[in-house]
Amino acid sequence: MKVTFCGTGAGGNYANDRGGSSVMIDQGGDVVLIDCGPGAVRRVQQAGVQFGQIKAILLTHLHYDHAVSLPELFNRFGRMGSDPPRILGPKGIGDYIEDCMRLITVSTSRGLPEHLAALSGESVDLEQSYEVAGIVMKAMEVPHDPDIQCLSWRIEAGGSSVVVSGDLKTNADFMVPFAADADLLIHEAYSVQGLDALVKGMPTEIAREGARRKFAPTHSEVSEVAKVAQAARVSRLALTHFVPAEDEEVLVNSAQELFSGDVFAALAGESVEI
Ligand SMILES: [Zn+2]
Repeated sequence: MKVTFCGTGAGGNYANDRGGSSVMIDQGGDVVLIDCGPGAVRRVQQAGVQFGQIKAILLTHLHYDHAVSLPELFNRFGRMGSDPPRILGPKGIGDYIEDCMRLITVSTSRGLPEHLAALSGESVDLEQSYEVAGIVMKAMEVPHDPDIQCLSWRIEAGGSSVVVSGDLKTNADFMVPFAADADLLIHEAYSVQGLDALVKGMPTEIAREGARRKFAPTHSEVSEVAKVAQAARVSRLALTHFVPAEDEEVLVNSAQELFSGDVFAALAGESVEI
């Protein structure tokens, strides 16, 4: 199983060329894409993946830094004449995909290609596992934004397992059983230093306080992530979803204090074999 990081930034920032959030899993040429934030389509192409290889797209949630590049991706399927993939995501994914189709229709002179017109988004059944081309996918609801449903995904194929946290305030109670014994846990993480640097650049104290109050309770501080990884006995931990001023070395060092496995900062465009 090959895992490629197609975007590693929070909020879709392009600092350090991170882009938004996106991960691609390639199992013997069959591909599952998890999230499709800013810059993701470019990374898919750079990895040499043909659009027809993408058999499923999984969304963790519908914030723009995880989903805004879907119309660009679908437009590629139309141009290539490839069969579009199965799309699974949180509540609201059906309407979101329909809106993507409308956007493609008005933004191309040729209209919507017939095989794209049949494309739809399915709200995931949390009791069920899904399978496409021998790749098994299961979702768990997680706390992030109270106004929308947010998911973590576990993907298993060929005896390997990967867990993608999405955005959340992590908690061992639900994340440890879900990520148990995974070969790779890809988890969002921020450091206190990174958050301090982020709010420091804001113009007023009200803005700084507002950002801190909004970000910290809805995202995962790195030491909490490391504790989850340790308790879940995962082999490797990839940290991702970096705020613009984040220093990846600080993050990795902090995680290493509490997690005895292999930990690294996900680098946009890079792949790991598991
Ligand atoms: Zn995000």
